Amino acid sequence: MNILNNPFSTPYNTAPFSKIKNKDFLPAFNQAIENTKVEIDVIINNSETPNFKNTLEALDFSGEHLERISSIFFNLNSAETNDEIQKIAQEVSPLLSEFNNDITLNKKLFKRVKAVYDSKENLILTEEQKTLLDKRYKSFSRNGANLSEDKKLKLREIDKKLSKLKLKFGENVLAETNKFEMFITNEKDLSGLPKGAKEAALQLAESKNKKGWLITLNYPSYIPFITYANNRELRKKLSMAFGSISFKNDEFDNQDILLKIVNLRYNRAILLGYKSHAHFVLEERMAETPEKVSEFLNELLEKAKPAAEREFANLENFAIKLDGIERLEKWDAAYYSEKLKQKLFNFDDEELKPYFKLENVIEGVFTVARKLYDLNFEEIYTIDKYHKDVLTYKVTNEKKEIISIFYVDFFPRTGKRNGAWMTSFKPQYIKKDINQRPHISIVCNFTKPTKSKPSLLTFNEVTTLFHEFGHALHGMLANTTYPSLSGTSVSWDFVELPSQVLENWCYEKDALELFAKHYETDAIIPMDLVNKIKASSNFHEGMQTLRQLSLGLLDMSWHRQDSSNIKNVKTHELTAFKGTQLYPDVTKNCTSTAFSHIFQGGYSSGYYSYKWAEVLDADAFAYFTEQGIFNKKVANKFKENVLSKGGTENPMTLYKRFRGQEPKPEALLKRAGLIK
Ligand SMILES: [Zn+2]
Repeated sequence: MNILNNPFSTPYNTAPFSKIKNKDFLPAFNQAIENTKVEIDVIINNSETPNFKNTLEALDFSGEHLERISSIFFNLNSAETNDEIQKIAQEVSPLLSEFNNDITLNKKLFKRVKAVYDSKENLILTEEQKTLLDKRYKSFSRNGANLSEDKKLKLREIDKKLSKLKLKFGENVLAETNKFEMFITNEKDLSGLPKGAKEAALQLAESKNKKGWLITLNYPSYIPFITYANNRELRKKLSMAFGSISFKNDEFDNQDILLKIVNLRYNRAILLGYKSHAHFVLEERMAETPEKVSEFLNELLEKAKPAAEREFANLENFAIKLDGIERLEKWDAAYYSEKLKQKLFNFDDEELKPYFKLENVIEGVFTVARKLYDLNFEEIYTIDKYHKDVLTYKVTNEKKEIISIFYVDFFPRTGKRNGAWMTSFKPQYIKKDINQRPHISIVCNFTKPTKSKPSLLTFNEVTTLFHEFGHALHGMLANTTYPSLSGTSVSWDFVELPSQVLENWCYEKDALELFAKHYETDAIIPMDLVNKIKASSNFHEGMQTLRQLSLGLLDMSWHRQDSSNIKNVKTHELTAFKGTQLYPDVTKNCTSTAFSHIFQGGYSSGYYSYKWAEVLDADAFAYFTEQGIFNKKVANKFKENVLSKGGTENPMTLYKRFRGQEPKPEALLKRAGLIK
């Protein structure tokens, strides 16, 4: 019997991990896909006139079981994978994308959705239902469902070309990154480097059967060298190599590819009836229009630039005094910043760690959730888990009603990918008047306990835990009818608000006193240490902001206009960078040819979101600090209007209902020390 094809008869309907065998997955996927196809056929062949219930609602509740198996499988592939699971993933992924294509390209289905959409003025729908109708209609129309047959064909051609070019762009960057090798044979040339970085360089050379030390453009090698190496000429050599990735007019050059990508994106947008690629992308974001994004970036630029210029002048003076250099160049940036930082804030992460025993931090984050949202976390031992290190909790509200099941998985092991993330094993939704509660999980890679010492977290790990827990709250407190709008299913310039806002509690005395206690003495963390953390986290914030803004503006410049006018990549880049650069330009360098975020990954017309999310979280937290960080009224407004609402309404509407006004950048600028 295939356990995955049957409803789970487990406590709280949790995933039956111990009973699942790897060989169950593929047949279960195939079966679930077939079942979903039948559900969709029922919708299409319904003889009744299409309406919201028999089409949109039916569609959103279809494929429930397929979703469930997918989330279990792909979560395992991230947190506890092996060769067998990876092999299955390679078989399953094309099946799923083909199935998804079958739905978005299904003409009969679209006809029904369009019939409901076209009559929407006459329907009585809730806000959530309106959003669902709109989103679903757009998932078809944005894929060309409204186009004539020849234009549809054209769209498919563009998509095919685009996916090839994006792949090639990434391959070129990778090839260039891997091609460069800087061998060092004189140990003196490594002076300044930390011991660990030197050892790594030695091992890297050994792995290539070479004597000496090897420095490459991969981050773990590049970053320490550019930050610590005293040899300025070698830093320059390395920086020049990094800055000229795929910009050498050779086989790995990306200039032509990049121009083709922006052109195809522009043509695609025009075909679908949009003014530009940026207009197409932003339609589905909180920011909504390129005009709004540009206004946002330029307003921040105006306010952050004076601070950035001050910081730059200080840093240059510091470098000139220290080493007598003539002027500060790009290859000096990380090096002198680090020197200045050490001079200004000499404190060490090791000083902090004893105050952040993992168990205490978990209790701390639970206490914060209880004080804000009346949630209680009780560890349970009756449900299955996929690894013995995973902890499981039952989450209840003040009425003792179950809110969520919560899994936490903290330590690194083979089979778990890097980083930290929140995910879910079961979504939240309301069907037949039953509010299905979600099963939420966070996965991290924290310092493991040893025989003599418990797990003591770095401050960075503490904020990471709060961050992921903020996402988890967004999932746990979800309270929507339709699964596709629930929890973290929001536009992606809104999704980091719940996570980033919670990080703010890590810097507050009233919150730290709850859990930041020395693991041996129980002494509460001294506030001057906390203030040092705060101050150092703002170090060179002006220059960093300027850098982020310059990349956001560069991204917009490529995507918000008719790109056929752009002939030369470097010239265009220099124009886009105008007013945002502090260091002298290096003629042989180019940012765009290695800007994989926007040309290979999914960040085109979206790079601004990093700063956007920061503005949101600082502005939201300012509301808490005005009223007290544990103020129940503010917390309740945040819960009712943001955390529980998922993607059921326009995010700006939700935010304004919580905050009483649109977000303003002042709180971020103040927090970053850029304005008084
Ligand atoms: Zn996040």
